[in-house]
Amino acid sequence: MQTIYDLSLKQMEEMLAQKGQKPYRAKQLYTWLYKKRVDDFAKMTDLPATLIETLQNEYTLQPMAEIERQVARDKTTKYLFEMNDGASVETVLMHFHFGESLCVSSQVGCNMGCTFCASGLLKKQRDLTAGEMVGQVMHVQKLLDEEGKRLNNIVIMGTGEPFDNYDNVMRFCEIINSDHGLAIGARHITISTCGIVPKIEEFAKGKYQYNLAISLHAPDDTLRSRLMPVNHAYPLNVLMDALRSYSEDNHRRLTFEYILLRDVNDTDEHAVQLAKLVRGMNAYINLIPYNQVDEHGYRTADERKALHFYDVLMKNGVKATLRSKHGEDIDAACGQLRARHERNQ
Ligand code: SAH
Repeated sequence: MQTIYDLSLKQMEEMLAQKGQKPYRAKQLYTWLYKKRVDDFAKMTDLPATLIETLQNEYTLQPMAEIERQVARDKTTKYLFEMNDGASVETVLMHFHFGESLCVSSQVGCNMGCTFCASGLLKKQRDLTAGEMVGQVMHVQKLLDEEGKRLNNIVIMGTGEPFDNYDNVMRFCEIINSDHGLAIGARHITISTCGIVPKIEEFAKGKYQYNLAISLHAPDDTLRSRLMPVNHAYPLNVLMDALRSYSEDNHRRLTFEYILLRDVNDTDEHAVQLAKLVRGMNAYINLIPYNQVDEHGYRTADERKALHFYDVLMKNGVKATLRSKHGEDIDAACGQLRARHERNQ
């Protein structure tokens, strides 16, 4: 059964119009779903009983069930959800000084094949629907409601490549961004891509206010192709051209993600080359400590080396941040919990 969370406000109006309902009912329904956050159509007391019955017959409010939860010492929490067809995905809640941030998955598995990533251990089974992504957010928001807390940041950095599931991801963003919905500000929503250039161009044309992050991980084509097969299709010069146009035309700052892998991409030369690649762009580099995935054999760069890498970037005129580790003592890497769960089945 389709989840009601799949529908944008406009789609909700169209669906209700087909049932002979007035357009204002869509906003009423949105309020029940996203402001009052009820989990049962029967509780939507200002809707006509006949409409409630139709909605109950046609839509579900439970697109998934939580089947496992891991809480790290730093309170980073990883949820494993099972969809109605049995597919499973992960979602991670992180606590920052600026508030609660949720890392959402966009696909069941991933086909991008990045050689360091746990998500790719299981090939893509299917795309997630917009409603299944909204479902991840709603499940966690409802839990946070019990503590009087609100999600204020959403990153699409879980399992999957968002730009390989473009339409559903953009609809997901529209739904959680809607003033009548959760009203999460566009600047508090980040889409992270491995660099699918035609979709970056489409995204640029849309003039969206969402943040764009790019997984770079290497400053030259040889190394990047080795780490990320997508680089064969869209090599660095093509990728950087598309990003430069996007950033300049839309006046948006870019985030480049760069995982530090010991003895692979963490030397001074890499830092200098990386600085050269992004210098002059409205961008900063987010240096990410690697969560080791046993199956892949890469190791985390040591902390002194990471700090030094950061210094070299700064000295070469590039802004950078060194992200601290979250959830180190749980299966924190994207796809790790799910991969372990599937193996144990
Ligand atoms: N497919 C998208 C979004 C999902 S991955 C993308 O490539 O951006 C989100 C981020 O986590 C990416 O930067 C990815 O390279 C990084 N990542 C993957 N595995 C990781 C690991 N084991 N440790 C740290 N970061 C990892």
